[in-house]
Amino acid sequence: MVLCGPGGVGKGTIASRLVREVNNLTLSRSWTTRRRRRGESSDSYVFVTRAEFEEAIAQDQFFEWAEFLGNLYGTPKPDPEMATDLLLEIDIQGARQVRERDPGAEIILIVAPSSDDLRHRMEFRGDDVTSIDERVEIGQEEIAEASEFADFVVVNDDLNRAVLEISTIISSLRSA
Ligand code: 5GP
Repeated sequence: MVLCGPGGVGKGTIASRLVREVNNLTLSRSWTTRRRRRGESSDSYVFVTRAEFEEAIAQDQFFEWAEFLGNLYGTPKPDPEMATDLLLEIDIQGARQVRERDPGAEIILIVAPSSDDLRHRMEFRGDDVTSIDERVEIGQEEIAEASEFADFVVVNDDLNRAVLEISTIISSLRSA
């Protein structure tokens, strides 16, 4: 299961709620070259140098990877023996790669109710204000593209409602 969407849409919060509330769902731990933020948990990513990341690319260790705002992010190839469903919380470029590599993946696109709402979320979480307009515009283009390959589109208008909608989607996929 893949949660994708533009930066700032709230997919990280949704993903952590889902793994707490839905049985048999494990969150994939990505690698990143981004520096750990103040107060960010040390297990939110595997934090590595660009050289370490590039070495892992050369050794074909990633299922998908992408560059986002100058940093590399990648999903390690999942363990085929894994007993639970795996949840990926990744950007839209990464979701496109998953779509190409794994026809069985279920891709859920998370969108904000409006571009103004997305802008406010970015401002609220303290993103660099000079790049917000550009990122909102990129986000709109990415959404248009991702709507073509996503299996579901969920509007993050209210956190509890969005989590409930996705939990229901997961239950229906499991019973299908
Ligand atoms: P952040 O730096 O805010 O934690 O994440 C920036 C963006 O990278 C978010 O959109 C997040 O979903 C995405 N991201 C996190 N991990 C991965 C990954 O493994 N692959 C890809 N393609 N994107 C990721």
